Amino acid sequence: MRLQIIGDPVLHSKSPVIQGAMLRALGLDVPYTPHVVRRGELPQYLAWARENGVAGFNATMPHKEELVPLMDWLDPVAEKCGAVNTICIKDGKYYGYNTDGGGFLRALGDMGVSPAGKRVLLLGAGGAAKAVAAALSEAGAMVTVANRTVEKAAAICQMDPEHLTPAGFEIDTLCKLSENAHILINCTSLGMAGTESRFADLSFVDALSPTAVVCDAIYAPPETALLRRARETGRPAMNGMGMLLHQAILALEHFTGEPLDAEKAKAAALAALKAEGAV
Ligand code: NAP
Repeated sequence: MRLQIIGDPVLHSKSPVIQGAMLRALGLDVPYTPHVVRRGELPQYLAWARENGVAGFNATMPHKEELVPLMDWLDPVAEKCGAVNTICIKDGKYYGYNTDGGGFLRALGDMGVSPAGKRVLLLGAGGAAKAVAAALSEAGAMVTVANRTVEKAAAICQMDPEHLTPAGFEIDTLCKLSENAHILINCTSLGMAGTESRFADLSFVDALSPTAVVCDAIYAPPETALLRRARETGRPAMNGMGMLLHQAILALEHFTGEPLDAEKAKAAALAALKAEGAV
């Protein structure tokens, strides 16, 4: 058995560190290596992988959407959001999964939060937001997707208009939506290390109910200004590390076909990321 991650670029990806540490911790002697696959090369790669004993692979930019029509089967979240990040090759067939959204749900579960029936304010409408919106709506949450480019929020909401509603990103809009939200999730890149962009106004955090949960998909820095504001105002807060680790665990569960010891896997991956200076 061998596993890979494909993309372009891919050599900067932390997945080999995370997956390598998890595989070792779980006693699985399986190589997991990065493999550059350029845009347009997917059909050749898929054939090569099948012939060369690749049991599964993760996919990053620019392949998550383009893989979808090449799959023999898709899981419900992948089908809903039109993107896969985990592919298993079994009996010559390709099975596509999206574990980003499911990883986020598991991280939420670690905080004791179930999304069913909850009102969620989701900021952003990029790749991360789309996967999270698909998983939350599948789980029965009512989600408002607020984005600077409101057309992108509207496009995401077409996935499931019964559960997803688009909104703009003006501070008055965010404050109003916060008042009714049980969960606030930032899936924009505002506050991410290495970028200059920051939330200019965090008053929408203060507008949340005192018990609302605040989540950020960002894990570097470990505490964004958004999460600091949540913590300082006494609200439960969660950064994106849980999502990052759980999406990897879910992928590994698909690759191996069995549930894994998530706590052991998370601890090993976190230690490896720290040793690399990645967090
Ligand atoms: P993306 O596709 O590039 O989307 C970026 C989003 O940020 C868009 O909604 C964009 O709005 C918004 N944005 C950027 N600059 C903004 C600004 N100045 N004001 C308002 N909105 C702004 O990125 P992505 O892949 O979805 O990633 C988003 C974040 O999630 C990143 O910080 C990434 O690190 C994190 N992430 C975490 C995980 C994890 O496992 N924890 C996984 C994936 C991503 P427009 O549409 O208007 O441009």
